Amino acid sequence: MQFRDLSKQYEVLKSQIDAAMTGVAHSAHYISGPEVKELEKALASYVGVKHCITCANGTDAISIAMMAWGIGKGDAVFVPDFTFFSSGECPAAEGAVPFFVDVDQRTYNLDPAKLEEAVKKVIADGKYKAKAVVSVDLFGLPADYPAIQAICEKYGLLLLEDAAQGFGGSIHGKKTCTFGDISTTSFFPAKPLGCYGDGGAIFTDNDEWADLIRSFCVHGKDTSNPSDPNAKYNNIRLGRNSRLDTLQAAILLHKLKAFADYELTDINQVASWYSEGLKDTDLMLPMIPEGYYSSWAQYTVQLPERANRKEIQEKLRADGIPTMVYYAKPMHQQKAFAGTDSAIADCSVTERLCATVLSLPLDPYKTKDEIGRVIEKLKEAL
Ligand SMILES: *Cc1c(COP(=O)(O)O)cnc(C)c1O
Repeated sequence: MQFRDLSKQYEVLKSQIDAAMTGVAHSAHYISGPEVKELEKALASYVGVKHCITCANGTDAISIAMMAWGIGKGDAVFVPDFTFFSSGECPAAEGAVPFFVDVDQRTYNLDPAKLEEAVKKVIADGKYKAKAVVSVDLFGLPADYPAIQAICEKYGLLLLEDAAQGFGGSIHGKKTCTFGDISTTSFFPAKPLGCYGDGGAIFTDNDEWADLIRSFCVHGKDTSNPSDPNAKYNNIRLGRNSRLDTLQAAILLHKLKAFADYELTDINQVASWYSEGLKDTDLMLPMIPEGYYSSWAQYTVQLPERANRKEIQEKLRADGIPTMVYYAKPMHQQKAFAGTDSAIADCSVTERLCATVLSLPLDPYKTKDEIGRVIEKLKEAL
C-alpha cells in the first residue's frame, strides 16, 4: 500500500493527461501558454474569488503575498506553531519576525484566543509592528475564520490564508482560498490538488494587490499594459521568476475537473471509514466542526501518551502500511529560528501534538477493504 497513491490517479486520468501533455509539447508554448490563463480562470471561479495568479510553488506564493504587502524588517507576523516550515519561513525571509501561536488540539488549527493574546502582547511590548496573520488550513481543514477574521479586523492586521493543504475545503459552503485578504495554495503532487512537479497559486479580490503580484511573479514587470509582450523587459520593481509551467497548467485543468467531480467527495468517504472504524479506540481522531468541510490532505490521529509511536510505525511498516509524522517539531524549535524572538513561544499543545500525531495512508482511490486493513493492523499495533 502507498501512503498517497499518485500513480493510481494517473492511471484513471491517463488518456486525458497524456493528450494534454503531448498537446503542450507540440505547441512549444512552454511558458505562459494559454492553458495557464485558462487554469487561473477555472481556479478563481471554483473557489469564488476575483483574481487567481499562478506561480512556481506554494512557498513563493506566500513570499510574494508578503512582498505585495511590503512586509519586512520591524514587522510581526503571527503564524501557527504546528505547520509546515514555509508558513513561517516566508515572513522571516522578508525580514519580519514570525511569532508562533499555539493551535487547537482537536482541529490542529490556530487557536483564536491564543492568537489574540499574542497580538496584544506584541502591541504592548512595542518592539515590533503587528502586521499580519498567516493562518494555515492544516490537513485540509479550514481554520476558524469567523474568529480569526474578527481579530484581524479588531487589530488592523492583514490576513493571509495558507491553504497549501486546504484547497477544496469550505465553511458553510464558502470555499478555502477566499478567507484571506490574500490566500495561497500549493500544487505539490501530494497536496489535495497536486500537479506533476512544483506549482502554486495566489488568490485575492483586491485589484491593486493582484497587479502587484503579477508583477512580482515576473521580475517586477510593468503590468500597466497587460498585452504588451515586452513588458517583462520594463522592470519597475525587483521581483522573482515565479511562474507555473504551461505543462503543469494543462495537467491541472484535467485534475481540477476530477477533483471537483469526484475526488473531493471520495476522499471524504475514505476519511469517514477511518473515523467510523477507529471511534471505539483510545486514539484522538480529527474533529471537523459543524458546517466545516475538509479536503483531507492528511488523516491524522493522536496516539495515547503511553503508546510508542516509533514501534507502532515499525509494526505497521512490517505489514506493508506506511505512516508519516506531520509534524515532529514545533516551528519555534526549528534551528533556523534559534536565537531570534521567534524561538520564544509558549505552545504546549503543539509540543504534545508533535509527540503523539500519526498520519495514516489516504487518497481518494483507497478502497474500503484497504482502509479496513489499516484499521485492523493499527488496532493490533496499539
Ligand atoms: C506544502 C506547504 C507549503 C509550501 O508549498 P510548496 O509548493 O511545497 O512550496 C506551504 N504551507 C503549507 C502549510 C504546506 O503544507
